[in-house]
Amino acid sequence: MNPLLLVTGGSRGIGAATARLAAARGWDVAVNCTRDAAAAEVVAADVRVCGRRAWVLQADVADDAQVQAMFARLDREAGVLSGLVNNAGVVDVAARVDEMTAARWQRMFAINVFGSFSCSREAVKRMSTRYREGGAWAAAGGHRGGVIVNLSSAAARLGSPGQYVDYAAAKGAIDVFTLGLAKEVAAEGIRVNAVRPGLIETEIHASGGQPDRAKQLAHQVPMQRTGSAEEVAAAIVWLLSDEASYTTGALLDVTGGR
Ligand code: NAP
Repeated sequence: MNPLLLVTGGSRGIGAATARLAAARGWDVAVNCTRDAAAAEVVAADVRVCGRRAWVLQADVADDAQVQAMFARLDREAGVLSGLVNNAGVVDVAARVDEMTAARWQRMFAINVFGSFSCSREAVKRMSTRYREGGAWAAAGGHRGGVIVNLSSAAARLGSPGQYVDYAAAKGAIDVFTLGLAKEVAAEGIRVNAVRPGLIETEIHASGGQPDRAKQLAHQVPMQRTGSAEEVAAAIVWLLSDEASYTTGALLDVTGGR
């Protein structure tokens, strides 16, 4: 049986690239999305072409009940996971803090921060060796450790003034979440790390009303170019792998030096 990975927000961009590369490296992959199940099905089909198993799981990571239902479906249909990539994330249109609404902040933190908390809680309950004796998932092969990779952002260092300080602050929370959870579960067989991408060519910029944002800011990058979803996926899949067996609590910049 191949190890099982859940990638949240796997229907496009960095999540889709991660699902495809992980499949090529031997993972069965569950592809989560909220909206575009057809796109997620295309990614799942690519996973199956690699000879791995794949599932499409539609759930809003900001909704704790939907996250619990998603993990319950995984338990029933796929088995116990040993990898989680908390990739689902959103930006919003460029604005100053004094122009933002509370509803915007709530959505920003609900998806980008609490979604990662919910999914990680469910993953740790299944992965942690702490529950090995008689734990709820022991019979199904759980409680044997695992690995979690969170998607932070260079924004957590840069602050994104005039664009989306709320997004940057949410990613700052992800950095601290990564450090704390990594220490909390390090002795329970679980590694927790974060990748901090820089300017990566995906549709996230269009969703914030700036489709050319990455290209326009490329001159600020020491390497003088944007990055690809595949370049970020390579870092994520390395962190998932046994090659990163002594790496936990790390915040890995994938930014071309920015
Ligand atoms: P993207 O192309 O916009 O893709 C986002 C993915 O998240 C989609 O699959 C989307 O699927 C899913 N999603 C959105 N809201 C969701 C929710 N509530 N529940 C479940 N899935 C949800 O974004 P990306 O550029 O690949 O970014 C991926 C991650 O990297 C994000 O966390 C982002 O903040 C981070 N990042 C990106 C960049 C960059 O330059 N691209 C830089 C730094 C960090 P549906 O629409 O189908 O729901």
